Amino acid sequence: MIPFLDLKAINAQYRSELVEACTRVIDSGWYICGSELDQFETNFAKYCGTKYAIGVANGLDALILTLRAWKELGKLKEGDEVIVPSNTYIASILAITANNLEPILVEPNINSFNIDPNNIKDAITDKTRAILPVHLYGQLADMPAIMQIAKDNNLLVLEDSAQAHGASYDSKMAGNWGDASAFSFYPGKNLGALGDAGAITTNDDELAKTLRALRNYGSHEKYKNLFSGVNSRLDEIQAAMLNIKLPHLDEEVICRRKVAEAYLDGINNSAIILPTVENESSHVWHVFVVRCKQRDSLQNYLANNGVQTLIHYPIPPHKQQAYHEWNDQSYPISEKIHAEVLSLPIGPTLSMSDVKKIIRIVNNFDFNV
Ligand SMILES: *Cc1c(COP(=O)(O)O)cnc(C)c1O
Repeated sequence: MIPFLDLKAINAQYRSELVEACTRVIDSGWYICGSELDQFETNFAKYCGTKYAIGVANGLDALILTLRAWKELGKLKEGDEVIVPSNTYIASILAITANNLEPILVEPNINSFNIDPNNIKDAITDKTRAILPVHLYGQLADMPAIMQIAKDNNLLVLEDSAQAHGASYDSKMAGNWGDASAFSFYPGKNLGALGDAGAITTNDDELAKTLRALRNYGSHEKYKNLFSGVNSRLDEIQAAMLNIKLPHLDEEVICRRKVAEAYLDGINNSAIILPTVENESSHVWHVFVVRCKQRDSLQNYLANNGVQTLIHYPIPPHKQQAYHEWNDQSYPISEKIHAEVLSLPIGPTLSMSDVKKIIRIVNNFDFNV
């Protein structure tokens, strides 16, 4: 079976350095908020081109705490509307409802899978305060258009960059477009820790200060609490793993682009719609998503031929039990996407011979059988 993603092989590339870094942390006797985290925050901010990066426990917390910080700073209040794509991973929406803010679901462009700026304009009301675009599947949302809309309407922008580490447009990185950006370093993300981890990037001094306090019980100084914060810190061990892996991120993106290019050149089957790329540097191919009307039979066929695939995502957020109050609403583009998408194997260690094999198998899929 060709696996969808071989995490073991990805981390094996750096095994000796990872073990050495782990040993260093173990022997240091300092496990929380130490020099590994400081170093990673500096390195990651530099990578994204931002003034700050603030490590937190995971990507969901990065989103939740940023909205929370804006509430503490008086920029958002309960009931304010936040525009978010209707076809995102549910975490983007959970962060909004966790803060008692109102998610306004907006349909994507079916070709880019990313939120459609024209639909954002139509969704703005006098209660809209923020836009939460998601760089879905590794491709930057249309940030020039989104930032213009935000400027014209005085809205905050929180990028969900959990799938887009290293994507850029006009030399501006994911993480440096909005007022703040949330990253996840979940092991399967393009930059993955060996456990949970996340970060927020921003150029805003006040926001960075507030986030540093919020992640640490609301404390900016030991035993003094400015806010009723939470415990959401990025462990030294995970920061150390990320310090080893960050310098290799760009090489890994190049490997992913090679796989994507081979698929785009090689897959030729009338039953399958290939993803579109707006701009080469704007896509880091977190996943390679095709559309197929006979998606389930394509997935079964590939499994029977030794190719593991995944669906990102089978159920749209508004059809989830968690949001049962929205179950009757209709978002036809999102529903079509969720019914038709299939993610083929892609990753920095996937061999070109496996890619060729996958292309041959995909091209032999006969949807009439
Ligand atoms: C993974 C992901 C998250 C959440 O990250 P965790 O670290 O798993 O909490 C948020 N948004 C998107 C788009 C994601 O893909």
